[in-house]
Amino acid sequence: MNRADLIIVGGGPAGLTSAIYSARALIDTMVIEKMLPGGQPVLTSFIENYPGFPDGISGPEFAERLEAQARRFGAKIVTSQPVVEVSKVEDGFEVKTEGDSFWGKAVIIATGTSPRKLGVPGEDTFTGRGVSYCAVCDGAFYKDKVVAVVGGGDSAIVEAIYLTRFASKVYVIHRRNQLRAEKILQERAFSNPKISFIWDTVVQSIEGEKKVELLRLKNVKTGEISEIYTDGVFVYIGSIPNSSMVKGLVELDESGFIITDNLMRTNIPGIFAAGDVRNTTFRQLATAVGDGAIAANTAEKYLGELSWRH
Ligand code: NAP
Repeated sequence: MNRADLIIVGGGPAGLTSAIYSARALIDTMVIEKMLPGGQPVLTSFIENYPGFPDGISGPEFAERLEAQARRFGAKIVTSQPVVEVSKVEDGFEVKTEGDSFWGKAVIIATGTSPRKLGVPGEDTFTGRGVSYCAVCDGAFYKDKVVAVVGGGDSAIVEAIYLTRFASKVYVIHRRNQLRAEKILQERAFSNPKISFIWDTVVQSIEGEKKVELLRLKNVKTGEISEIYTDGVFVYIGSIPNSSMVKGLVELDESGFIITDNLMRTNIPGIFAAGDVRNTTFRQLATAVGDGAIAANTAEKYLGELSWRH
């Protein structure tokens, strides 16, 4: 039966934490995930700053543990079902996927974000043939090769360091002359002999015959055009919220992030949001997990009030 008291859209750290809390509180809970459960950690090489793991933990292993914990308390997890629309119906919400329809009394949106694209010529043509958004997935293809990472945030630097395991050289191309990444990561990257920084520079185009061969670059201060030869380019320039399924229903900010209060309530009673998809200033695994716990608790109270009213 495609019905549950609480439907959680998205099976990343925020969604699975909500599922752990609500299923453990004996609420009939269903998680609908577009691919496989785990979310961003599945695509993350190594997690070092999540409390309780002093030696760090691999992202995929962390994701597996979250899923196992949610299942242990009885959460149903539906996979390979991208949710396309959430709408208000009598006595609850309809959650439509590409091939199916689900019904819930309350919904938590925990759909996270997707990688932002560079939007330059060659990017789409060479995606999967040298252009990648996931070092964990594709890094091993670049043994003894030259790769470039675009971006200056935590993701770009963490993954540039990870790529030095395989690649002979890693260029980091950043549009400013200062990184946004945490100082501890900056220090590691600066002292890594395989990493070279190209500052004040943007990618103009990605070129090659059958696969990526070179990047045409532009120095934003001098206007100078240059090129570097590379076998792959990993794009880590931030992310965009996956909120299209509630557009027009729930209030979003100007960038498309879902607006919530401290209790993860949106402007629509019965719809909550948690994790990277909501408008927050600090997007971390620890904050996503915290959001997920709060959203589940608020949803539990909402469901309690509903049953009391009926
Ligand atoms: P981010 O912090 O938003 O950084 C994006 C980077 O890409 C910035 O350096 C930005 O440059 C650059 N950029 C943005 N648009 C660009 C464009 N069109 N062309 C070229 N460069 C562009 O994104 P993130 O690194 O993915 O991190 C997202 C969140 O996850 C952050 O809150 C981060 O702290 C967190 N995170 C944490 C860890 C960790 O280990 N602690 C690891 C991964 C992610 P400017 O600097 O000039 O704006």
